[in-house]
Amino acid sequence: MPAPVTAYVALGSNLDDRRAHLEAAFAALDALPDTRVEARSAIYETAPLGPAGQQDYLNAVARLSTALTPHALLDALLAIERARGRVRAERWGPRTLDLDLLVHGDAVVRDDRLTLPHPGLPDRAFVLAPLHDVAPGLVLDGRTVADRLGSLDRSGVRRLAR
Ligand code: ATP
Ligand code: CA
Ligand code: CA
Repeated sequence: MPAPVTAYVALGSNLDDRRAHLEAAFAALDALPDTRVEARSAIYETAPLGPAGQQDYLNAVARLSTALTPHALLDALLAIERARGRVRAERWGPRTLDLDLLVHGDAVVRDDRLTLPHPGLPDRAFVLAPLHDVAPGLVLDGRTVADRLGSLDRSGVRRLAR
Protein backbone atom coordinates (compact mmCIF):
# COMPACT_ATOMS: atom_id res chain seq x y z
CA MET A 1 0.00 0.00 0.00
CA PRO A 2 1.32 3.50 -0.81
CA ALA A 3 2.24 5.67 2.18
CA PRO A 4 -0.64 7.90 3.32
CA VAL A 5 -0.76 11.49 2.11
CA THR A 6 -2.77 14.50 3.19
CA ALA A 7 -5.65 15.32 0.85
CA TYR A 8 -8.32 18.03 0.96
CA VAL A 9 -11.91 17.55 -0.22
CA ALA A 10 -14.46 20.34 -0.72
CA LEU A 11 -18.08 19.51 0.16
CA GLY A 12 -21.05 21.46 -1.18
CA SER A 13 -24.84 21.08 -1.14
CA ASN A 14 -27.69 23.32 -2.24
CA LEU A 15 -30.60 20.89 -2.53
CA ASP A 16 -32.89 19.17 0.00
CA ASP A 17 -31.47 18.79 3.52
CA ARG A 18 -28.10 20.41 2.95
CA ARG A 19 -26.70 19.75 6.41
CA ALA A 20 -27.68 16.09 6.28
CA HIS A 21 -25.89 15.70 2.95
CA LEU A 22 -22.71 17.24 4.37
CA GLU A 23 -22.83 15.16 7.55
CA ALA A 24 -23.36 11.98 5.51
CA ALA A 25 -20.42 12.95 3.30
CA PHE A 26 -18.06 13.46 6.27
CA ALA A 27 -19.08 10.06 7.61
CA ALA A 28 -18.69 8.38 4.21
CA LEU A 29 -15.23 9.90 3.74
CA ASP A 30 -14.13 8.64 7.14
CA ALA A 31 -15.43 5.15 6.22
CA LEU A 32 -13.38 4.88 2.99
CA PRO A 33 -10.67 2.21 2.96
CA ASP A 34 -7.24 3.37 4.17
CA THR A 35 -8.66 6.85 4.77
CA ARG A 36 -9.46 8.96 7.81
CA VAL A 37 -10.96 12.43 8.25
CA GLU A 38 -8.34 14.27 10.32
CA ALA A 39 -10.06 17.64 10.52
CA ARG A 40 -13.21 19.33 9.31
CA SER A 41 -13.87 22.99 8.73
CA ALA A 42 -16.81 25.00 9.96
CA ILE A 43 -19.82 25.05 7.67
CA TYR A 44 -20.33 28.12 5.48
CA GLU A 45 -23.42 29.39 3.72
CA THR A 46 -22.50 30.84 0.35
CA ALA A 47 -24.07 32.46 -2.68
CA PRO A 48 -24.29 30.02 -5.62
CA LEU A 49 -22.12 30.10 -8.72
CA GLY A 50 -23.87 29.39 -12.02
CA PRO A 51 -27.53 29.64 -13.12
CA ALA A 52 -29.70 32.11 -11.18
CA GLY A 53 -32.60 31.15 -8.90
CA GLN A 54 -30.74 28.47 -6.90
CA GLN A 55 -30.71 28.08 -3.16
CA ASP A 56 -27.58 29.13 -1.29
CA TYR A 57 -24.95 26.46 -0.72
CA LEU A 58 -23.57 24.98 2.41
CA ASN A 59 -19.84 24.42 1.95
CA ALA A 60 -17.14 22.77 4.03
CA VAL A 61 -13.71 21.16 3.64
CA ALA A 62 -12.33 17.90 5.04
CA ARG A 63 -8.65 17.20 5.62
CA LEU A 64 -7.95 13.53 4.98
CA SER A 65 -5.13 11.16 5.54
CA THR A 66 -5.41 8.61 2.75
CA ALA A 67 -3.47 5.85 1.07
CA LEU A 68 -5.86 5.87 -1.91
CA THR A 69 -4.41 7.10 -5.19
CA PRO A 70 -5.84 10.35 -6.63
CA HIS A 71 -7.99 8.47 -9.17
CA ALA A 72 -9.22 5.92 -6.63
CA LEU A 73 -10.20 8.76 -4.30
CA LEU A 74 -11.98 10.58 -7.15
CA ASP A 75 -13.98 7.43 -7.93
CA ALA A 76 -14.91 7.15 -4.26
CA LEU A 77 -16.07 10.80 -4.18
CA LEU A 78 -18.27 10.30 -7.25
CA ALA A 79 -19.77 7.15 -5.67
CA ILE A 80 -20.59 9.07 -2.46
CA GLU A 81 -22.28 11.79 -4.56
CA ARG A 82 -24.38 9.18 -6.34
CA ALA A 83 -25.35 7.60 -3.03
CA ARG A 84 -26.72 11.00 -1.96
CA GLY A 85 -28.91 11.21 -5.05
CA ARG A 86 -26.71 13.48 -7.14
CA VAL A 87 -28.13 13.97 -10.63
CA ARG A 88 -25.96 15.72 -13.20
CA ALA A 89 -28.09 18.15 -15.19
CA GLU A 90 -27.01 21.65 -16.20
CA ARG A 91 -23.46 22.83 -15.45
CA TRP A 92 -23.16 24.28 -11.95
CA GLY A 93 -26.91 23.63 -11.44
CA PRO A 94 -28.38 22.66 -8.05
CA ARG A 95 -27.05 19.47 -6.46
CA THR A 96 -27.57 17.41 -3.35
CA LEU A 97 -23.85 16.89 -2.96
CA ASP A 98 -20.70 18.00 -4.75
CA LEU A 99 -17.36 16.57 -3.66
CA ASP A 100 -14.28 18.08 -5.27
CA LEU A 101 -10.78 16.78 -4.70
CA LEU A 102 -8.80 19.96 -4.09
CA VAL A 103 -5.31 18.69 -3.37
CA HIS A 104 -3.80 15.22 -2.99
CA GLY A 105 -0.33 15.38 -1.45
CA ASP A 106 1.90 16.97 -4.04
CA ALA A 107 0.19 15.30 -6.99
CA VAL A 108 -0.10 17.30 -10.19
CA VAL A 109 -2.58 15.68 -12.59
CA ARG A 110 -4.25 16.79 -15.78
CA ASP A 111 -6.16 14.12 -17.63
CA ASP A 112 -9.68 13.47 -18.91
CA ARG A 113 -11.08 12.69 -15.49
CA LEU A 114 -9.00 14.59 -13.01
CA THR A 115 -7.24 17.93 -12.63
CA LEU A 116 -5.09 18.49 -9.53
CA PRO A 117 -4.85 20.81 -7.78
CA HIS A 118 -8.51 21.60 -8.50
CA PRO A 119 -8.56 24.49 -11.02
CA GLY A 120 -11.29 26.50 -9.23
CA LEU A 121 -9.45 26.51 -5.95
CA PRO A 122 -7.26 29.65 -6.11
CA ASP A 123 -10.08 32.14 -6.73
CA ARG A 124 -13.13 30.66 -4.96
CA ALA A 125 -13.78 32.23 -1.58
CA PHE A 126 -16.41 29.57 -0.80
CA VAL A 127 -13.65 26.94 -0.98
CA LEU A 128 -10.74 28.93 0.45
CA ALA A 129 -12.69 30.08 3.54
CA PRO A 130 -13.34 26.53 4.82
CA LEU A 131 -9.92 25.35 3.60
CA HIS A 132 -8.40 28.10 5.74
CA ASP A 133 -9.93 26.46 8.83
CA VAL A 134 -7.97 23.24 8.28
CA ALA A 135 -4.90 24.36 6.28
CA PRO A 136 -4.15 28.11 6.52
CA GLY A 137 -0.48 27.60 5.65
CA LEU A 138 -1.02 25.30 2.67
CA VAL A 139 0.83 26.77 -0.32
CA LEU A 140 -0.97 26.86 -3.67
CA ASP A 141 1.10 28.03 -6.58
CA GLY A 142 3.45 30.01 -4.37
CA ARG A 143 0.86 31.66 -2.09
CA THR A 144 -0.66 30.41 1.14
CA VAL A 145 -4.36 29.84 1.55
CA ALA A 146 -4.43 32.65 4.12
CA ASP A 147 -2.78 35.07 1.69
CA ARG A 148 -5.10 34.11 -1.18
CA LEU A 149 -8.21 34.36 0.97
CA GLY A 150 -7.16 37.79 2.22
CA SER A 151 -7.23 39.21 -1.29
CA LEU A 152 -10.67 37.83 -2.25
CA ASP A 153 -14.14 39.33 -1.87
CA ARG A 154 -15.75 37.29 0.91
CA SER A 155 -19.12 39.06 0.94
CA GLY A 156 -21.04 35.99 -0.31
CA VAL A 157 -19.54 33.68 2.33
CA ARG A 158 -20.99 33.43 5.84
CA ARG A 159 -19.61 31.18 8.58
CA LEU A 160 -22.38 29.38 10.48
CA ALA A 161 -22.35 28.70 14.19
CA ARG A 162 -21.41 25.09 14.99
P1 ATP B 1 -16.21 22.60 -10.81
O1 ATP B 1 -15.25 21.47 -11.03
O2 ATP B 1 -15.91 23.83 -11.62
O3 ATP B 1 -16.39 22.90 -9.34
P2 ATP B 1 -18.51 20.89 -10.80
O4 ATP B 1 -17.99 20.47 -9.46
O5 ATP B 1 -19.91 21.35 -10.86
O6 ATP B 1 -17.60 22.07 -11.38
P3 ATP B 1 -18.93 18.27 -11.72
O7 ATP B 1 -20.07 18.16 -12.66
O8 ATP B 1 -19.17 17.92 -10.29
O9 ATP B 1 -18.29 19.72 -11.84
O10 ATP B 1 -17.73 17.34 -12.20
C1 ATP B 1 -17.44 17.09 -13.54
C2 ATP B 1 -16.18 16.22 -13.64
O11 ATP B 1 -15.04 16.91 -13.18
C3 ATP B 1 -16.16 14.96 -12.81
O12 ATP B 1 -16.86 13.91 -13.42
C4 ATP B 1 -14.66 14.66 -12.68
O13 ATP B 1 -14.25 13.64 -13.56
C5 ATP B 1 -14.01 15.95 -13.13
N1 ATP B 1 -12.93 16.44 -12.26
C6 ATP B 1 -11.73 16.87 -12.73
N2 ATP B 1 -10.91 17.23 -11.72
C7 ATP B 1 -11.63 17.02 -10.57
C8 ATP B 1 -11.30 17.21 -9.20
N3 ATP B 1 -10.09 17.69 -8.80
N4 ATP B 1 -12.26 16.91 -8.28
C9 ATP B 1 -13.48 16.43 -8.67
N5 ATP B 1 -13.82 16.22 -9.97
C10 ATP B 1 -12.91 16.53 -10.91
CA1 CA C 1 -17.48 21.87 -7.67
CA1 CA D 1 -17.57 18.34 -8.65
